Amino acid sequence: MAQIFLLAEEIYNKIAAGEVIERPASIVKELIENSIDAGSTKISVVLTDGGIGSIMVKDNGDGISYDDVDRAFLRHATSKLRNERDLLQITTLGFRGEALASIAAVSEITLRTSDNEHGIGVQAKVSAGKLLEKTEIGFARGTEILVERLFHSLPARLKYFKSVENELGHIIDYVNRLSFAHPAIAFVLENNGRELLRTAGDGKLIHVIAAVYGNFAASKMRAIEIESIDYEIEGYTSTIEITRASRNYMTVLINNRYIKNFLLQRAILNGYNDLLMVNRYPVTVINIKMDPSIVDINVHPAKLEAKFSKEQELFELIETGVRKALLTEGQIPTPLNKEIIYRYKEQDTVSQLAVDLVAEPNFAHLSNEAIAVEPPTDIKINESGKLPYIEPIAQIFGTYILAQNDDGLYLIDQHAAHERINYELNLAKITNCELEIAELLVPISIDYPADEITKLQSRANELAHLGLELEQFGAQTLLVRTVPSWIPKGEEQLYIESVLQSVIAENPVNLLELNRDLVAGASCKASIKANQAISTQEMLSLINRLRETTNPYTCPHGRPITILISKYELEKMFKRVT
Ligand code: ADP
Ligand code: MG
Repeated sequence: MAQIFLLAEEIYNKIAAGEVIERPASIVKELIENSIDAGSTKISVVLTDGGIGSIMVKDNGDGISYDDVDRAFLRHATSKLRNERDLLQITTLGFRGEALASIAAVSEITLRTSDNEHGIGVQAKVSAGKLLEKTEIGFARGTEILVERLFHSLPARLKYFKSVENELGHIIDYVNRLSFAHPAIAFVLENNGRELLRTAGDGKLIHVIAAVYGNFAASKMRAIEIESIDYEIEGYTSTIEITRASRNYMTVLINNRYIKNFLLQRAILNGYNDLLMVNRYPVTVINIKMDPSIVDINVHPAKLEAKFSKEQELFELIETGVRKALLTEGQIPTPLNKEIIYRYKEQDTVSQLAVDLVAEPNFAHLSNEAIAVEPPTDIKINESGKLPYIEPIAQIFGTYILAQNDDGLYLIDQHAAHERINYELNLAKITNCELEIAELLVPISIDYPADEITKLQSRANELAHLGLELEQFGAQTLLVRTVPSWIPKGEEQLYIESVLQSVIAENPVNLLELNRDLVAGASCKASIKANQAISTQEMLSLINRLRETTNPYTCPHGRPITILISKYELEKMFKRVT
């Protein structure tokens, strides 16, 4: 590894101040980043008491030479930057030369390192920023830094840490994101002798996702791959079968570096259209590659924020990438026009939608002049909100039922219609019934990151009231032995996940909301799919049952079921009326 030198004052004054060492997680972050910069392929993090007790980070990287050890703990001492020109093409995570100095100022450090293949290394002890001892030892190439007695000189800071669990949560979250950013590095994280994360380091992001979120979640991820002139995006996003109650599961990396950016998360969500229910978020990990000169990650080192030129281009690319990933699964119907679907919510009448459609240039491709149609006033067909009596004519594209009555031509999405019918049936079944608990023949095992398992266990009583009896089974696995008995067969996992997710997100669990989500999911699966031929008799039966529902116009996911093109509008288009 290159030698460590002190930065000239005029250079470090040009660099934004670095991250302050304010908690165990910031120390873990700096140490791991140094290990990554040193080209390590294996990095282990061993903690006691969530890092409040001690933190050890060990790597197999370049190591530090005997002579350099003295300088490593000095402020503005770095091997990663020499002159101003280097500043424009930084490829390392660190370059300010401040982290080790800042950590050393608030703790006691034992460093063991070797920069050679001869097994000759050096051990150094540093306390309150001073190098106390330095001796030659036998050590394999790599570096191990042990940090103890954190903040012992700052008791006020120590008090500020809420709990071991909370500090550990921050660290796990950070190590998880770093492991997403570096799938080729094998990470191990342990706390008080318990293993919390182990990644393979085989370079496959999907394997890291499995290690962090469990195999089930990983099996529901869809690959994202898209590029534009300025950006290249790769990663995974979950199908709507796996959603979470918080945004925390959407990770955005810029050039393999984790950043927080609300706008880019919004772009991911937009990619789902209105497929996601209120307050539900997908599991996503995307890495955006770009020329480093169009991003300024350095704007806010402490907040992990980034600024881009060409933000709009990136936003749209993410949105399209996510949509494409899901479309390959046949999950998202491409709406005629997203704007209209958004405007068309439950309270609107179907004829309002028809008016909107006719007013829409894309739709009225039959005749451009049709756009000029005045919204007709005589097509408000059904004040009760029920579907009028209509007669099926045919099925088209294996997906839509064509039907008619004197008012016009109806197009019905057969899947959405069936979904609505099942949804209302199921919802009726579950309301007003006492919680009856059923024991599962085979307990269901659920994988979660270790910090979340801890959180769930502390709320076991509450979960028991929701019909879930939990048992710990390994660091990242829970066994669930009971569920409420109304849960349809095969839907247990979904119910369990939804309840546990709300608890993790610390939302008070709203049973009715939860049940609605769950029932919507179950109803969707039990429904006729698109591209499935059905007979006229079946069409009629579907239409009649749809008429019995309270809302025959939108499916539980908010998509339209029925579209009407009124006779009047048709006549307008064909210029039979003026
Ligand atoms: P920076 O990372 O900004 O250079 P640090 O204070 O974090 O500053 O580290 C100072 C120097 O110590 C680094 O530039 C590097 O040369 C050396 N160093 C720190 N940690 C390691 C490590 N794990 N392996 C090899 N060298 C390291
Ligand atoms: Mg560093």
